[in-house]
Formats: sequence, structure tokens, C-alpha cells
Amino acid sequence: EMAHFALFFNQGQCCASGSRTFVHESVYDEFVEKAKARALRRTVGDPFKAGIEQGPQIDSKQFEKIMRYIRSGVESGATLESGGERFGKERSRVMWRFADLLEDHNDQIAALETWDNGKPYEQAAKVEFLETWKSFLYTNSSGWADKIHGLTIPADGLHHVQTLHEPIGVAGQIIPWNFPLLMYAWKVGPALACGNTVILKTAEQTPLSALHAGLPPGVLNVVSGYGPTAGAALASHMDVNKLAFTGSTETGKIVIQLAEKSNLKPVTLELGGKSPFIVCEDANVDEAVELAHFSLFFNQGQCCCAGSHTYVHERIYDEFVEKAKARALKRVVGDPFKAGTEQGPQIDSEKFEKILRYIRSGVDNGATLETGGERFGTGGYFIKPTVFSNVQDDMLKAQDEIFGPVQSILKFKDLDEVIRRANASNCGLAAGVFTQNIDTANTLTRALRVGTVWINCFDVFDAAIPFGGYKMSGNGREKGIYCLQNYLQVKAVVSPLKNPAWL
Ligand code: NAD
Repeated sequence: EMAHFALFFNQGQCCASGSRTFVHESVYDEFVEKAKARALRRTVGDPFKAGIEQGPQIDSKQFEKIMRYIRSGVESGATLESGGERFGKERSRVMWRFADLLEDHNDQIAALETWDNGKPYEQAAKVEFLETWKSFLYTNSSGWADKIHGLTIPADGLHHVQTLHEPIGVAGQIIPWNFPLLMYAWKVGPALACGNTVILKTAEQTPLSALHAGLPPGVLNVVSGYGPTAGAALASHMDVNKLAFTGSTETGKIVIQLAEKSNLKPVTLELGGKSPFIVCEDANVDEAVELAHFSLFFNQGQCCCAGSHTYVHERIYDEFVEKAKARALKRVVGDPFKAGTEQGPQIDSEKFEKILRYIRSGVDNGATLETGGERFGTGGYFIKPTVFSNVQDDMLKAQDEIFGPVQSILKFKDLDEVIRRANASNCGLAAGVFTQNIDTANTLTRALRVGTVWINCFDVFDAAIPFGGYKMSGNGREKGIYCLQNYLQVKAVVSPLKNPAWL
């Protein structure tokens, strides 16, 4: 007790502080044990609050200097028995620093994304970069790191009941190639903010940006490898306590089985979509065409939430199709590093061929090919922006996730009909609604079985807005306050209240 006081009094900022505690070897081990326990009991916090024994250090300079001394103690081999970090905030500090470093290396990381993925450098890589950065800054990552705590619960009045929100442990994370950096941020940020460590598997096509970004050794471990080997190993590993997966619905079904067969680790899934974009009869057609175009063609059509099914009211259908075709013809396809390019190549030859097969099947099934439908140029995996009209619900491409620059425009008569058709999909990731009528917007918003509804906008992402799917588009939510639940366990702690005054 005396040695503790001699050092810790006044936040350890005493000229006479007992900073070197010499202890006779015969009582050394017992002393260390008890000194550690006493330090752990020390109350740190708001210096105006009754009972607080220790407030903050005087300023950031002193604070950083002390942290440096602590690090040098650890590096020199002294045993850190307790403490050694910012009170409750060390991981928050590391994550803020990480966000700063991302900002400093913006151009470099954006270039890596374009090399790896082919997405236009100006538009997508920078937009994606900004969202990544915001994710780390915002509550769902660093901002939350020092605000995670449990509750006290009155319960039966005879017991003191509290909940502790604890990290799950080792989080395995698997991400796809369409937004490599953004998917990384959505996964890594909240897992670390909640105090977990991470093993992240990048997609085989796009490993670069995740390998470039780094956090303290052991905290974030990046594995680049193939899905059926590296990914499956992660999903089935007995020492991985949680799995977060983003990718296709098909692979989602595989990883959930691997998790079940191994240690029943909880699994969150962010899977594919077939999002309806509904243009109502009151819409301004020019604006609706532009937004519907963006909702599908952004990122070469390789978005899980792409507005792949454009439902247009019959009254404005013909005008819409004409203008959608004209807009697609104007789309600038080419070198993703060139200023002004709107569309780069598809990710690889396999997906390129698959998209062309879908296009051929659309033609074979009788949909009207308005424009595009073939390779753009002679080299690379570029596809001409493609628009189909007169698409029927049962045509193959109306059912599958094409994941390419192919817009299908379907005709509808009334709201009940379009709700029924849109909800018939086995996916439920997102929907776009274009209308000036608040009643129509309210009806569609509540009726559509999807995780996100964008009204008169599309692809509006923010670190604060939760994202995830209904039905076969997945379970759990990323981003916003909801994502924390994926990475925390709740422990209930119950003890009797013995003082009759509280009974
Ligand atoms: P994919 O399922 O083929 O691959 C995704 C990841 O899973 C990759 O890292 C891959 O290596 C890994 N994987 C593949 N087989 C595996 C196995 N047997 N075991 C473990 N891991 C395995 O998907 P993709 O083609 O890379 O990505 C496109 C899909 O991702 C689309 O369906 C898209 O809709 C979806 N997606 C969803 C979201 C969302 O938030 N809902 C976001 C982006 C992409």
C-alpha cells in the first residue's frame, strides 16, 4: 500500500515519487502479485468525481513520453504486469493514427486499388478510399473503441446485475474483390474497436491494398490465398471464434456449414443482391434515368446492391427506355487511370465470360437488346454498357446476379404488382425508389423486404448507416451502431445485495 502511494500519488508526477521499488527477494513474488492487484484496483477517471484516485497526465507531451518509456520497458524485457496503455483508449489511439496514415497515403492506396481491380482511379478508387477513411474515423471503428460498456440491470432487486460487453476473440474475415479496401474497412474497423484480433482473407484477385495497410503485429493478420483452401481453413478453424464473410450467396452457404461443422462459431454474412430500382409514374424521367444508370453501372456493375432490375411504370416506359439507351451510349469506357473514364474492365476473364453468357441468354429468351451486348475494343475485359428492355421476370438474367454493366428494364402497372414482383426475389439487399409522392414512398419503403431503401437517391453510404440483407442476401449488419453486435459477447454478472437497505 505504501509503495503504491509513494509512486502513484499525483499521477506519478512527484519529484520525490518512489519510482524504484526495491523488494527483498524473500517477499518479492508476493509483493509483485499484490502490487499488481492494488494497481488494478486504482480508480482512474474524472478528477472531479468523488473516489477517483488518479486523473490524466498533464499534457500530450508528457503522456507520449510516458508511453514511450513503457514501450521501451517492454522491449527491454521487463515484465508488464498490468497497465501499459492509455486508460481504456489505447486501441482507439492506434485506430485514429491508422486513419491518419490512410489519409497521408491516399493517392498511393487508390492507385493500388486501380491496378488490382481495374476500377477508374478518379471516381471509384477515391470515393472508395474516402468511405474507407470515414469508416475508421467514425463511431463504428475508432470512435467506438472507448465507448463500449455494459449495463446495470435492476432485475429482482435482490441482486446486483451487470453485463460486461467482451470481445469474442479471434475474428476470421473473408472479403470479395469488388471493393477491396472498403470491405476491409467495414470488417476490420468494428472488430478491432470491440477489442478482437483479426485474421482477414482477401479475395484472390485483389490482395494489394489490405497488405499495404498495417496495424500492430498480431492484431491484424492478412492472409492472401484461394477461397477453397485459405478461406475454408479460416471458416473451419477451431481457434477462430467468429466469422464475418462477404461474397456470393453460394460461398456463404459453404462457409456457414464449415463454421457449423467445426466449433459453431457465429457467422455474419453479407451476400449477393438483385436490387429493384422502381421508377414511379410521377417521376421526372431525365433524373430517374440518370440515377437508375448510376445505380447499375457504378463500379462496372460489380456492386452487391446494384439496381439491376429497373422497374418502370408503363406510362413512362418507352420514354425511359429511349433515354436509358442514350445515356448508356454516352458512358465513357476505357483506361481506368485516364481522367473522365467512367467504366474500366471487369475483374477477370471468368466473370467477363459469365456476363457475356448472361447477355446471350437474354437475347435468346426474347428480351430486346437496346444497346451494347458485346466486348468493348479488342483487348482487356471491357464490356459495352448494355441495356435490355422488355425483360420478363422469368428470364434467366432477371433471376440471377449478373454482376456486370447490364441494365434490365421491366414494365409495371401498379404498386401492388411491383411490390409482389420485387419481393419475389430470393435476395433482399437493397432497393431504389424514385417518386415525388410521399405516400408512394412510404408504402414501398415498408413493403419491400430489403435491408436498405434509397428514396430518390442510390448508393448513399456512410459509416453511420447500417448495411446488410434480408433473405438470402445475408444476416447481421455492417456499419453504424449495429455492427458492434457482431464482435461482442455479453456476459451477465450477478451477485447478491446483502445490505437489507437495498432489499
Ligand atoms: P465469392 O463468394 O466467390 O468470394 C468471396 C470470398 O470468399 C473470396 O475471398 C473468396 O476467396 C472466398 N471463398 C471462395 N470460396 C470459398 C470457400 N469454399 N471457403 C471459404 N472462402 C471462400 O464472391 P466474389 O465473386 O469474390 O464477390 C462477389 C460477390 O460478393 C457478389 O455476389 C456480391 O453481391 C457479393 N458482395 C456482397 C456485399 C454485401 O455487403 N452484401 C458486398 C460486396 C460483394
